Amino acid sequence: MIHNRSQEAFEKAQKFIPGGVNSPVRAFRSVERSYPIFIKKAKGNRLWDEDGNEYMDYLGSWGPMILGHNNERVLAAVKECLEDGSSFGLPTSMEVELAELIVNSVPSIEMVRLTTSGTEATMAAVRVARAYTKKNKILKFEGCYHGHSDSLLVKAGSGLLTEGYQDSNGITAGVTSDTLTLPFGDLDKVRELVAADKEIACIIVEPVPANMGLMKTAKEYLQGLREICDSEGIVLIFDEVISGFRLALGGAQEYYGIEADITTLGKIIGGGYPVGAFGGKREIMEMIAPLGDVYHAGTLSGNPISVRAGYETLTMLRDNPSIYTELEEKVDYLTGEIEKAAAEEGVDLVINKLGSLYTIYFTAAEKIENLEDVMATDTSKYITFFNTMLEEGIIVSPSKFEAHIMSIAHTKEDLERTIAAARKAFKVIAE
Ligand code: PLP
Repeated sequence: MIHNRSQEAFEKAQKFIPGGVNSPVRAFRSVERSYPIFIKKAKGNRLWDEDGNEYMDYLGSWGPMILGHNNERVLAAVKECLEDGSSFGLPTSMEVELAELIVNSVPSIEMVRLTTSGTEATMAAVRVARAYTKKNKILKFEGCYHGHSDSLLVKAGSGLLTEGYQDSNGITAGVTSDTLTLPFGDLDKVRELVAADKEIACIIVEPVPANMGLMKTAKEYLQGLREICDSEGIVLIFDEVISGFRLALGGAQEYYGIEADITTLGKIIGGGYPVGAFGGKREIMEMIAPLGDVYHAGTLSGNPISVRAGYETLTMLRDNPSIYTELEEKVDYLTGEIEKAAAEEGVDLVINKLGSLYTIYFTAAEKIENLEDVMATDTSKYITFFNTMLEEGIIVSPSKFEAHIMSIAHTKEDLERTIAAARKAFKVIAE
């Protein structure tokens, strides 16, 4: 594959943008490439780069593209919207429609506030939880990623893990001392900590962690967190920026039948345009300005284009519930065949999958349940896997710490091509 234009673009990019990218993992350093591919356009489950190469996409823009890129209905609605203007700084009816749709879809959300990103949603959720409980500390889990606000960039996953660290420089000790962390999956440790520390305002968790690779959460774990929060007066925040509207219309909460006090959303609810949201119990949400004294705002919050794209996306998901079973069936088939091919080629791996998400870990271990397990998996084999897939015209996550993402645009033929490419990659790995 020829990548001359991508290479040229990256040379120029590095002069003007730190590392040449606007989000670190895009640089492809983690998969030992000296430049990333620069994308020109996308449609369905296909991406085309600046050199005209075509790729099948399992990134889905890191989550939003459940319907595939540039879905016809979303595109038509956005085009119609563009004619009316791009941002007003005043309310629009469509914001209310989207809010109603979210409230009607996610069981625990009685009121919702829109933001421009998932980061802003989690940041505001923590702020309102602190105000509601009149306590300061937050508890998060190692390897869970909740965006890049200061207090949540402690033992974080996603791009930080990919770049080889978990905490960011530039954050004061004062801030991080209020963020407590524990390994994911161990309820006894949570019980011990909350018994010893009565200053915890909230527990924030990705109910299905997808930023240290995908983890399969046990229902009892989420149930346990719910019970601990209820008995200790702690706000339970489910960060459903990835899992929201992806595992089910009502996200992981519907999938597991467990409700959070506050839920954060992003990605799918903007249909590929910039949006985030946080919502929850009325009593908590009514503390937000202008009703209460917890400040949250945004010049582009509830942006009309994003809101319309999100509304069309969520409506399609609501009106076609079979989408979720179809996505799950595709992932079951694909991962089953990949496991078979790996076994035939003598490559040890574990695949964690849930709904339309999965991660392939190269390891001889039997299961992968937390960050420690993921750290011990083979990075160089994953890099070979990524690069072989890319040469075969298939983009998977450029990091072993992320999920691979299925969309409704992937066809049976696409899955067969993916399985054949994976077999090729396993042959290279086994050499
Ligand atoms: N929360 C989770 C679970 C995420 O995966 C992400 C981003 O990947 C965020 C929050 C932050 O969202 P954003 O990148 O839109 O700021």
